[in-house]
Amino acid sequence: MGPGPSDIHPRVLAALSRPTIGHLDPAFITMMDELKQLLQYAFQTSNALTLPVSAPGSAGMEACFANLVEPGDKVIVCQNGVFGGRMKENVERCGGIPIMVMDDWGKPVDPHKVEEALKANPDTVALAFVHAETSTGALSDVKTLCELAQKYDCLSIVDAVTSLGGSELRVDDWGVDAIYSGTQKCLSCVPGLSPVSFSERAAERIRSRTSKVQSWFLDMNLVMGYWGAGAKRAYHHTAPINPLYALHEALLMLQEEGLEQAWARHSQHYRALAAGLEAMGLTFLVEERYRLPQLNAVYIPAGVNDAEVRNLLLQDYNLEIGAGLGEFAGKVWRIGLMGYASRKENVLTCLSALEAVMLAQGAAINSGAVAAANRVYSS
Ligand SMILES: *Cc1c(COP(=O)(O)O)cnc(C)c1O
Repeated sequence: MGPGPSDIHPRVLAALSRPTIGHLDPAFITMMDELKQLLQYAFQTSNALTLPVSAPGSAGMEACFANLVEPGDKVIVCQNGVFGGRMKENVERCGGIPIMVMDDWGKPVDPHKVEEALKANPDTVALAFVHAETSTGALSDVKTLCELAQKYDCLSIVDAVTSLGGSELRVDDWGVDAIYSGTQKCLSCVPGLSPVSFSERAAERIRSRTSKVQSWFLDMNLVMGYWGAGAKRAYHHTAPINPLYALHEALLMLQEEGLEQAWARHSQHYRALAAGLEAMGLTFLVEERYRLPQLNAVYIPAGVNDAEVRNLLLQDYNLEIGAGLGEFAGKVWRIGLMGYASRKENVLTCLSALEAVMLAQGAAINSGAVAAANRVYSS
């Protein structure tokens, strides 16, 4: 129950161990086509340029920036936690000029500030922001921010590493141009792949670049020779065959459950966990309406030893929760309810274990957390 990698369902682990076949084998090519359709479903898009980059979420981030930002391009980057800072790094390394819109950690991206920045910089080529900030558990409003990008005629680049499969996300309806995710968060697959999707507007930008993409590996013009619809499927790099089996299975499970049911499940278990944590007297970092169901950042109560609690949970209960990052290191815990980990037994185990471990440390917390969670389940 940390911030990822999340628990993996046995079906996905079993898929991982299937025999490794060639990356140009007809059976594998068929699976690639299915994978693309499953990803289009997960992203709610019909974008043709939708595929898993063969590397973790950070590579999906690089793929978006490296392909869409040319030297001298202005990009508005919103930062309200760790990952916006990495977007800035990416823009700079592509030779672009980041225009920063800063919000406090724990707050969502403020669309009013974004609009001011867009007005002040009419030559902006892209607006980049994180949908679900894993460092704090804050959710930003993709629809509103992408509408602003369209109003001011620039592309939108969205980090959906933690949101995909856990929070409502509609790439086509919300007008997202470029989006990347990861496999080890709410998709509950092995780490090491990054689903990405580019709108036709973004794909056209990539095709009509005046400079070469500075990364050979991530150049979508070349990757499409392998992944593209009707492409000759020429060798580009050896695809990570077995992790792709696992992703195929994880996405199949998501489709079987139904995307909206998966979002509802994340929300239900969050409500039960939150009721239990609040019954103990713990408080959240993020205001209720902006909270991510899959990542719960709560303040560590006074007199409690952060590292000791996390060690005891791991040793005695086989349960991992996440530490705080940046300015919240030592101040909050980040309790994940991602993908397959988002289930009742985890919520109840976490609450009873946390209560026992904190009471043993002499913390002034209230009892009754499990009962409070169960009231949510039975309501
Ligand atoms: C985890 C995460 C990433 C990075 O993904 P990796 O797979 O670790 O490279 C990027 N953005 C957000 C919001 C994340 O939570």
